[in-house]
Amino acid sequence: MATAARTRTRLTTPLVAIVGRPNVGKSSLFNAMVGRREAITSDIAGTTRDRVTDAVEYRERRLLLVDTGGLVPEPDEEMEAQVASQVGAALAEADAVVFVVDVVAGATHADRAIAQRLRETSIPVILAANKVDGQRQEAFALEMHELAMGPPILVSAIHRTGIDDLFERVVDTLPPSSDEAQTGRLPRFAIVGRPNVGKSSIANAILGEERAIVSAVPGTTRDAVDGELRFEGREAVIVDTAGLRKRGAVAPGIERYSVLRAIRAIDDCDVAILVLDATEPATAQDLHIAGQVMEAFKGVVVAVNKADLLEGEGEEVDPRSARRTVLSRLHFMEYAPVVVTSATQGRGIDHLLRTAFAVYEERMAWTPPSRLMRVVMDAVGRHLPPKQGRRALKIYRVKQEAVGPPTFVFYCNNPSLMHFSYERYLENALRDAFGFEGNHLRLEFRGKGKLHVIGGHRTGRDAARNPPPQKRG
Ligand code: GDP
Repeated sequence: MATAARTRTRLTTPLVAIVGRPNVGKSSLFNAMVGRREAITSDIAGTTRDRVTDAVEYRERRLLLVDTGGLVPEPDEEMEAQVASQVGAALAEADAVVFVVDVVAGATHADRAIAQRLRETSIPVILAANKVDGQRQEAFALEMHELAMGPPILVSAIHRTGIDDLFERVVDTLPPSSDEAQTGRLPRFAIVGRPNVGKSSIANAILGEERAIVSAVPGTTRDAVDGELRFEGREAVIVDTAGLRKRGAVAPGIERYSVLRAIRAIDDCDVAILVLDATEPATAQDLHIAGQVMEAFKGVVVAVNKADLLEGEGEEVDPRSARRTVLSRLHFMEYAPVVVTSATQGRGIDHLLRTAFAVYEERMAWTPPSRLMRVVMDAVGRHLPPKQGRRALKIYRVKQEAVGPPTFVFYCNNPSLMHFSYERYLENALRDAFGFEGNHLRLEFRGKGKLHVIGGHRTGRDAARNPPPQKRG
């Protein structure tokens, strides 16, 4: 069993929530701020959805941007209820709020209601008047003064104007950045999952008896309390145990572990422990969280918890069949190890931790350059790269550029010829040769001067670039 070494508080990456009533242009503004041109195709086979969260950097400040409109995807819900839960989620976790209004429509009743709600908190709010596409609208922007939120920043999400001004204001409102240098830092595990699957029970089981988690120290904006642990001679940190802590009775329907908090915990970790309930594994919400872990390029271990509820006297859930059941739904995460646990009986917890450490090690592993080259060239030889008409993709060279996540750069003639299915094929070839269990590999395709990233954005923070290669089996 692990021992809880100690707990401490830290300041995490600031979270900036975009709120506003429907149709004011929240998601367009989100896209403009993260610098994305078009909706991305999700890696989750057969689905296309807009990402609602992304890490961005502005003036060397890293922040997590969240489009809260996309967090509450219930079209038939009453608009007011929808906006209320969106704003509520933002207020619970955000360090700053970008409140979007539409200059064309002017300040509506719903806008005033949101403004009222925001004024009641101490979270800094930046008013963004969107759809300012010409002089006329600038005059309309004056009308926004009645919201009493200070002068609005005039933006056009579609024309991408005013975005820098907006960022300036956002960054100005944030507390000074803490020193994020994390040299020699410990592996960071985040326990994530939908409510009631047993996240806090697992955290408690992991941290053992000395689980009294100190309360957050006031003074910082949003504190995360990390639990450090020692296990079989290794040390790690359980990210944001405060988010897992029970907060007493909560009205039904309100998550104790809010979506935004989970997003931040995922961003902040190396390996996510995704907890599922064995009696109802892989629900839509589970898939959604899994998708977020994958898109953030974090390592993952799936814990199928409450296994005891499926077992009769003297029976135990067969790990292989649990794995099959889970991965038949989480098929985009075939690389994830699956561990069967019962938090209440303390069963599977050591195995879970051992697996999380193993995934972390894979995540930080370097491949020997010559073997890497051979593996890729063999794969290319077995199955030729895609063609478009007479133009065929040629791969000249490959190198591992980073660990955490493992990042591979393929130098080729024309990256635009790369195809998602071929990328998958290459990823599988790398996996067959080198393992990387539990890790989503980042593959980048570079032509002459052009960089083409498939399968997500680069945020760069946790990627350790270009240290001396080490040998690996
Ligand atoms: P969280 O919301 O994900 O943090 O879930 P909790 O840790 O609060 O657990 C929700 C409920 O499930 C509680 O009543 C726990 O006692 C129960 N629970 C958690 N893990 C297990 C388990 O392995 N087996 C059983 N039978 N119940 C569990």
